[in-house]
Amino acid sequence: MKKYVNVDIELVKSKFRPIEKKAHKGIQGHALIIGGSYGKIGSVSLSSKACLKSGAGLVTAYIPKCGYDIIQVLNPEVMVITDECHDYITSVYHNLSIQSIGIGMGMGVHKETQQAFLQFLKMNDLPMVIDADGLNILSENKSWLENLASKAVLTPHRKELERLIGNWSTEEEMIEKVKSFSNDYDIVIVVKGAPTMIVYKTMVYINSTGNQALATAGSGDVLTGIITGLLAQGYEEVDASILGVYLHGLTADLAVPETGCNSFTASDIIHYLGKAFL
Ligand code: AMP
Ligand code: MG
Repeated sequence: MKKYVNVDIELVKSKFRPIEKKAHKGIQGHALIIGGSYGKIGSVSLSSKACLKSGAGLVTAYIPKCGYDIIQVLNPEVMVITDECHDYITSVYHNLSIQSIGIGMGMGVHKETQQAFLQFLKMNDLPMVIDADGLNILSENKSWLENLASKAVLTPHRKELERLIGNWSTEEEMIEKVKSFSNDYDIVIVVKGAPTMIVYKTMVYINSTGNQALATAGSGDVLTGIITGLLAQGYEEVDASILGVYLHGLTADLAVPETGCNSFTASDIIHYLGKAFL
């Protein structure tokens, strides 16, 4: 048996399901994006837009009050619910029609946000992606890992991963540590970087797309939105992660001959998503 699975076009095509001719937005799934804080609302804007552009039928953003006008103006297709607090999130939002959740982008680690996040973990076993400050809060409160929903998708870059599982000396050792972390909590880990890998228990998938143009602000927020959008459509967690990571990388591969690396931004990932899906 091969040690690692290469995420290539054949694997991705075998998992991808085109949207049905008779689909309607109800079938395409309702995703919830939770995050943002004063000065970091753009992260939710990027995530929400990427989520819609990945095929989710409906997207609701749950943000602090300060982000209301920003999201409404930047993302007219996104519904917005605001927390009581102006600057950061202090409570949990729940809506029975939601099918997937992406949480953590630009969220900050205020004490009240941390408590809301714990309540969120205790209340939810929906398909979900946890990123950025969601991961930082978990690193600061390791016992909360016990509350993670089965197959929750965690998307740490290498630094976030180190805070979660401690350091390693070789890539092989890191992969072994991630495999047992995944096994201990029954979660999917997307280890972001060059290359990005998707780990679930004993399975390790190595992505084949992407380049250094992706090393830019907001890039990870877009990835969270894409995976959350795929989860809303009913893709199983490992498949949504594989597809999301591959498509995210492919946008940069398609874009760079036209934009170059230096001028490529996270908004360009969203812009090129359509071509990547095609
Ligand atoms: P974040 O650090 O959370 O914004 O996430 C960065 C995203 O860009 C992840 O999906 C990384 O895998 C990707 N990325 C960053 N640098 C590179 C690189 N040099 N080559 C390929 N992908 C990269
Ligand atoms: Mg990030």
